[in-house]
Parts: sequence; C-alpha cells; structure tokens
Amino acid sequence: MIEIPARRGKAVRLSKGQRIKVINTKGQQVVDTWAFNAEDLHEFMSMEHSRVAIDRIIPGVGDALVTNRRRPILTLVEDTSGGIHDTLFAACDRWRYELLGCKEHHDNCTDNLAAGLAALGLAPPETPAPLNLFMNIPVVDGNRVEVRPPVSTPGSYVTLRAEMNSILAFSACPQDMLPVNGLAMRPTEAHFEILD
Ligand SMILES: [Zn+2]
Repeated sequence: MIEIPARRGKAVRLSKGQRIKVINTKGQQVVDTWAFNAEDLHEFMSMEHSRVAIDRIIPGVGDALVTNRRRPILTLVEDTSGGIHDTLFAACDRWRYELLGCKEHHDNCTDNLAAGLAALGLAPPETPAPLNLFMNIPVVDGNRVEVRPPVSTPGSYVTLRAEMNSILAFSACPQDMLPVNGLAMRPTEAHFEILD
C-alpha cells in the first residue's frame, strides 16, 4: 500500500488492464484524481466529457470515465464508499484559498498534481477538472451546489481499472477552511494499492 500523505500529492504509472484501489483510510478525506494518457499527456480524463458519456454527474460501478478525446481511460469497477463523488468542482488552488481569506501560502491540489507528476519527471499540460473521489457536493433543488462532509467511512475504497497506459495522480485535498474533508476540517492521509 502506498500513502498519499495528508495535504500532498502522489502520481503513479498504470498499465492498461491494471486496477488501483484508492482507500479512504480515515474515512473523511477527499482524494482529487487525475488520469493522463501515458503516451500523450495532452489527452486526459475529462469530467465534462465523462458526464456526457455516462448521462449523469456521479459515476457508478461499471461506468467508464473518458478523455477529452472521448476514449475510455478509467472504469470504476468497485465502490464501498457509499457512491458519493464529485465531478463538478475544480481542483483547489492558491486563488481559491486567497478568495476564502487565506493570507499565507496554503497547500492545494493544483500544486499537488504538479508535484506528483514532477516526481515522475513529468509536467501536466494544464490542471484538468479532477474526479473528486469521496467529495460530497449535492445539487440542491436541481441547481444550487452545496459543500457537505463525505459519506465515506474509514477503510472504504474505490477501485479503478486503467483502459489505456496511464499516469494517475492523486491529491489528499488540503481543504481545511470548508467541511470538504469532514466537519473536523482536518485533512488526513489516504492510500492506494495497485492490483494486477
Ligand atoms: Zn483540494
């Protein structure tokens, strides 16, 4: 098992057909997730294209997430977390925290994506909208979005299968100014495990 340290990012290579289990170790941690085509990072998992492909805003077991070229890149094959994830919210970044009133540097998922890829000698062409695993953003009254604590429990997980050779990146979201990562607003570590 590999740790995604609290407030940090981690990236990993996945071959087509390999599965990866993303574990919400403490139960309330959102994990921003990206996938890039290993042969061409300009092709990446796209939430806007995926919502079209699956006819809904939250992927369920059996759904394939697609790239900005509309090709399947990851399939959600198992989910013990309660099935609540987010595809609507952009990754947090320094500007998000500045708007929330943060005066100093704040760790953020956008920097974590870049750092995770840098550890593999790569750089993201941009920050695609992430698949925000375990993030609970209900659409209320068919229009308004709300930030609520995750419904996932300690040790619950999601398993994803790579549909092409991919670079996956994860960020244990450092959001501690809103209850994104639970009412305690205390980001924690998460883990992943590659299954062949
Ligand atoms: Zn974040």
